[in-house]
Amino acid sequence: MHYFADGLGSAHLADRLGHYAHLFICTAIVGVVIVGLYPLPGALALTVPLLLLVTVLGSWLLMRQHDRRLCEQCAATIPLNPGAQAEAYQRRFWVAHAAMEPRYLLPYLAVLIGSNFETSQAGRIAWALIQCTMIYLIVSHATHRRLQPWCPRCQGGDGRDDRDDVAPPPPPVDRRLLV
Ligand SMILES: [Zn+2]
Ligand SMILES: [Zn+2]
Repeated sequence: MHYFADGLGSAHLADRLGHYAHLFICTAIVGVVIVGLYPLPGALALTVPLLLLVTVLGSWLLMRQHDRRLCEQCAATIPLNPGAQAEAYQRRFWVAHAAMEPRYLLPYLAVLIGSNFETSQAGRIAWALIQCTMIYLIVSHATHRRLQPWCPRCQGGDGRDDRDDVAPPPPPVDRRLLV
């Protein structure tokens, strides 16, 4: 497709990086957890967490940008049996949709942030595990984005499920038969 090769080098690079942004975020989260459990000495104690934070935020922006456009690499990696894959990833779809709902998102954020105040040994391990759940969230988001056309929860177009109770439209009646 010609608009992918329009000579906008930096935009093209951002697209390419955006495709892998979720992996950058996951790696940075692992880094945050490691640095949190084993604080670095001296100036590194400040600079490395800062660098990781910048990586997370920058990757997040790249991922948002990536999700808004048609991605050449995503199109190339659509599996041959997307329906079967979508079936296998129902849990990730649920997580991806739940993350957009305040009733799930707000308590999750509260736990995510609240766990930072744990100082005991067990508390720090719990903190690490809780932070790692963000990896599953990001992976779920990426999977959902890739297989979105096959996500049954997106069938209403607004990402909501609970539409099973909507009655299907009545079959069209051939009026010629009634005349
Ligand atoms: Zn992509
Ligand atoms: Zn969906």
